[in-house]
Amino acid sequence: MSTTTNDRVLQLFKESDALLQGHFKLTSGKHSEWYFEKIRLIEKPAALEKIIDLLVEKIKAESPDFDYVVSPAYGAIAIGFLTALKLGKKFAFTQRVEEKMSFRSGFSGIDGSRAIIVEDILTTGGSIQEVVACLKERNVAIPGIYVLVDRTGGAVPIEGKPVGGLLALKIEAFEPDVCPFCQKGIPLIKPGASDKKV
Ligand SMILES: [Zn+2]
Repeated sequence: MSTTTNDRVLQLFKESDALLQGHFKLTSGKHSEWYFEKIRLIEKPAALEKIIDLLVEKIKAESPDFDYVVSPAYGAIAIGFLTALKLGKKFAFTQRVEEKMSFRSGFSGIDGSRAIIVEDILTTGGSIQEVVACLKERNVAIPGIYVLVDRTGGAVPIEGKPVGGLLALKIEAFEPDVCPFCQKGIPLIKPGASDKKV
């Protein structure tokens, strides 16, 4: 993926208000220049569609052979569904049933098929690993794993292979006493703390 494409994707995320740049207090208590508010992607379908168009281009270019797009509930359902629609493939989602990632029983055609996984953000890879395990139980081959945003900057391979991130963005978080944005006196924003408009 070229830098130009990364920049274009970054711009689309900013336009959708899903990616905010400023000075944020994360739930960990650390401070960061970036905050990802993924609910905005679903809230603004037209903005999401432009991002998905780029993901679709990437998947087409890499041309994995597959039948299904599979995404974990709930945040990635709209993302995976739109991707499947544009690629002319089937779609299925996984959800946690008593803590275990599972398919809804209605997705009967998934067994023994080929599926790519599409997820919104790669942070630790935990939920994708769970989807992989779920697909393997159903004897599904996985020729590709894609995320819109790879927050690890390629540092977390899954099943020994790199994940196809549309946007690679290594988000640095700082302890408050060494935060460069605090030192510059930039006002700190605690996301979700109020109904503020951003
Ligand atoms: Zn700070």
